[in-house]
Amino acid sequence: MSTLMNTYARLPVAFSHGQGCRITDTAGKEYLDALSGIAVNTLGHAHPRLVAAIAGQAGRLLHVSNLFRVVEQEQLADRLTALSGLSEVFVCNSGCEANEAAIKLARFYGHKKGIESPAIIVMEKAFHGRTMATLSATGNRKTQAGFEPLVSGFVRVPYDDIAAIRAVAEHNHNVVAVMLEIIQGEGGIFLAGESYQRELRALCDEKGWMLICDEVQCGMARTGQWFGYQHAGILPDVVTLAKGLGSGVPIGACLAGGKAAGLFGPGNHGSTFGGNPLACTAALTTLDVIEQDQLMAKAERTGELIRQGLNEQLAGVTGVVQIRGKGLMIGIELDRSCGDLVKQGLEAGLIINVTADKVIRLLPALMFGEAEVRELVPKLAALVKKFLAT
Ligand SMILES: *Cc1c(COP(=O)(O)O)cnc(C)c1O
Repeated sequence: MSTLMNTYARLPVAFSHGQGCRITDTAGKEYLDALSGIAVNTLGHAHPRLVAAIAGQAGRLLHVSNLFRVVEQEQLADRLTALSGLSEVFVCNSGCEANEAAIKLARFYGHKKGIESPAIIVMEKAFHGRTMATLSATGNRKTQAGFEPLVSGFVRVPYDDIAAIRAVAEHNHNVVAVMLEIIQGEGGIFLAGESYQRELRALCDEKGWMLICDEVQCGMARTGQWFGYQHAGILPDVVTLAKGLGSGVPIGACLAGGKAAGLFGPGNHGSTFGGNPLACTAALTTLDVIEQDQLMAKAERTGELIRQGLNEQLAGVTGVVQIRGKGLMIGIELDRSCGDLVKQGLEAGLIINVTADKVIRLLPALMFGEAEVRELVPKLAALVKKFLAT
């Protein structure tokens, strides 16, 4: 028994150290890590440049508060705006906080337009976090049950369905924004179509709505573009980031452009820890390494190799419904609950995840390479076949 609050069904494994895409448990057993801390360890474990940058920053300054200019935070905002096409950045500590900032921006925008009870369109199967507002925006009853009353002001529609959004537009005149994961992560690796994204962008423009993209999981070069929306060539008004941004150092960001830029003034939002020099240095170094080692293109290629390999090795296997994803965000949907595969993976020296009950999820670090693919694909295919045969 542990004195930790019982909020996770934890696996009985603890790790002592890692290197790249390998991680070792306290008993000395080594694993191939195809999860990277749920898309967090962008640069894998113990990346020498990240280790040196963090150690150097820790020896200079960890935290000064946002009562002062923070040079590293300004540099990070410059980098993120240049990469995203948006124009300003609020730095926080996590995905739900980034989404809270986005929700507040949308409501603030609505009030400025004279809408007293602004509404945000959100999606079925969406995941936006665990705070009261973000769990209310999340499309999963399990996340919400027992925490009512929920925050109001969210209207839910099916994912990837432009007609459903048009139908809301016809009768609901309080809508101020649409919030969307370009690829749903927790929901089971579902991809929004590119034509849907473009139609949605046009509809938001026509109606004067903000388009908010929650890129907490699919952003940061994981899909082969810096951000998921770039595949469709659209530009959201708000983009939220967190998981992979600091390669394991907690940091989140809410980026704003278009209708969302210039809305907040001093006193409208804040964070004590948000954007401290340590976290921003971790994020800046993550961006540097992605660029210098061309990890974005690598993620796209490696993801293709993994899907190709799994498609070959699992072809015709009954029980495999679909293999889908983009870059290093991959889901293998089975026709049954498959949570047990995570434990079987650990026994076989493989760290994988199962989400939405039936979807095996792979989110490896961006330097996952061909050697790792050659190990992952046959091991995972064998596990899946054995699981489905019993
Ligand atoms: C993980 C996740 C969040 C929540 O992030 P936290 O840092 O856990 O608050 C929000 N949105 C998406 C898409 C996520 O994957």
